[in-house]
Amino acid sequence: MSLVVVGTVAFDAIETPFGKTDKIIGGAATYSGVAASFFTKNIKLVSVVGDDFPASFIKDLNTKGISTDGLQVKEGQKSFFWAGKYHIDMNTRDTLDTQLNVLLDFDPVIPESYQDCEFLMLSNLMPSLQKSVIERLRKRPKLIVMDTMNFWMDTQWDALMDTISLVDVLTVNDAEARQLTNEFSLVKAAQKILAMGPRYLIIKKGEHGALLFNKEQVFFAPALPLEEVFDPTGAGDTFAGGFIGYLAHTRDISFDNMKRGIIYGSAMASFCVEKFGLERMLNLTQAEVEERVQQFVDLVQFDIELV
Ligand code: AMP
Repeated sequence: MSLVVVGTVAFDAIETPFGKTDKIIGGAATYSGVAASFFTKNIKLVSVVGDDFPASFIKDLNTKGISTDGLQVKEGQKSFFWAGKYHIDMNTRDTLDTQLNVLLDFDPVIPESYQDCEFLMLSNLMPSLQKSVIERLRKRPKLIVMDTMNFWMDTQWDALMDTISLVDVLTVNDAEARQLTNEFSLVKAAQKILAMGPRYLIIKKGEHGALLFNKEQVFFAPALPLEEVFDPTGAGDTFAGGFIGYLAHTRDISFDNMKRGIIYGSAMASFCVEKFGLERMLNLTQAEVEERVQQFVDLVQFDIELV
């Protein structure tokens, strides 16, 4: 059994009301892979970087149980670069720059050792490339989770619809769910998105938690009220990595287990936002994760008698 994670491995420049970074390591697959590594050690990365990307960080991923045999390093080319600036509410942000660089002619290669993939995380990437990875796996994984963002809705609508129709779980934020469907009501938006193909939909609402839908049921998980929110970059990818990592670890893809997966994903995301970039995630212990999950349980547990 393995978990294959596909998506960007990148450099980010981030500006928040609390500070600013130059080029730091980021990327959707980086966040998802690192988060998932707290639950399973059989993670396989598919991505591409330029020769400007530090080899030492690739080694760090390997020590976390993440295979990088499917990570291509392109000589003489630059890594994907993204710059973003957060508004004072920290829930909304502007993309200042997206430089696709190595992504422009990226052709994902799936090493033979990745063909045992049972869980596939399609982190944020060009939708056509996400689809090519599904097609290049000889056996369809047990569960395919896909994340995407407004950038691809604006630039590659048809390819995005095509890929969405092939996955089991789609994760988007509330603004993206509205953009996908032209519906203000998230309940109506969810039903429209489920009609596009996925059996499950997760709508992330930043500091307001997350909703899990299938055609008949809905589940809500809160976000932990945090004193310090320093940098939300990667929170969505970290959430998705924690979610699929937990499902891969427990090997149970029922709706009830997805509820637990959402709590684990939310716990991981709550750490991610505490420091810039990957800093907090790289220094996190298993005990801290368990303690935080317990805080989630305590936050929502109450006894009630119906009158
Ligand atoms: P999130 O905050 O969860 O939306 O993820 C932010 C991460 O996504 C950053 O580390 C970026 O490098 C990466 N990213 C930003 N824009 C894109 C894009 N258009 N496609 C893929 N990854 C992106």
